[in-house]
Amino acid sequence: MKLKIYIIVIVVFFSSCSKSEKYEGKIFDTHVHFTKDIDTQFDDFKKHKIIKGAVSSSWDNQENYRGVTETEFLIGLMFPCPNGIVPYSGQKCFSDGSEFPDVNWVKQQIADNKIDFLGEVLNEYYGISPADSRLFPYYALAEEFKIPVGIHTGLAGPGHLCPNYNLKMGDPALMKDALDKFPGLKVWIMHAGAPYLKGTLETLKYYPQVYADISVLANPDIINNEDFHAYMKALIDSGFENRLMFGSDNGDLNKMINAVNELDFLTLEQKEKIFFKNADRFFSVD
Ligand SMILES: [Zn+2]
Repeated sequence: MKLKIYIIVIVVFFSSCSKSEKYEGKIFDTHVHFTKDIDTQFDDFKKHKIIKGAVSSSWDNQENYRGVTETEFLIGLMFPCPNGIVPYSGQKCFSDGSEFPDVNWVKQQIADNKIDFLGEVLNEYYGISPADSRLFPYYALAEEFKIPVGIHTGLAGPGHLCPNYNLKMGDPALMKDALDKFPGLKVWIMHAGAPYLKGTLETLKYYPQVYADISVLANPDIINNEDFHAYMKALIDSGFENRLMFGSDNGDLNKMINAVNELDFLTLEQKEKIFFKNADRFFSVD
């Protein structure tokens, strides 16, 4: 009897401890973009133990992330580019000014290990659905080569320079036709679909291969604490702790890491999954 009480006391003690414990381990940042102050970016990554990152920007700027830093970067393919440019920065996505890169060229780059994932897919900025047939040849390649596809969802900040931007195209529910057509596609919902919670929950529920990154959502400079807390609670309560991934989208790393750490309903194990383990599994070659 006494032993039983001791065990109960120990269990209660440890479970209450892990609830508020701060995660301080290695991090996988699944949402990185190019910045002109790249040395500061690399220093910041080192400081916050970001040992892996998934980066997307103009094709030429991707060169800065190939095997030169302590962080191991996966290289994305950003497209389709409205008027040939990267939203916000205005740089040309591809040197020839194209909006959709040549499919055969993309195939060759993937075969040569120059592209690790497709993304950030900018269909919402372009004003089309993530299930628009113009994207299908690229999805077919991603499925064939088993590389992930990261699709921008949710809303957008001001000054994106995209005349056909359509926020209605940011609901993850619109991915359904593409996910049905390409059942082998590994997709992640960038920005976790916020504020389209219903479409996000449904998509995660019906398609177990789909993950989500929490960039923007976890940024207290953009989303208030209360909304972040409620959205994350809904995702966790729906059982998706194995499918959420940290992403910064070049936000303030200190603030964003703290914001996740301050979610009092997360255990330390859940934080470890969100900061590293889920992404490491998602991006692993299988
Ligand atoms: Zn985005």
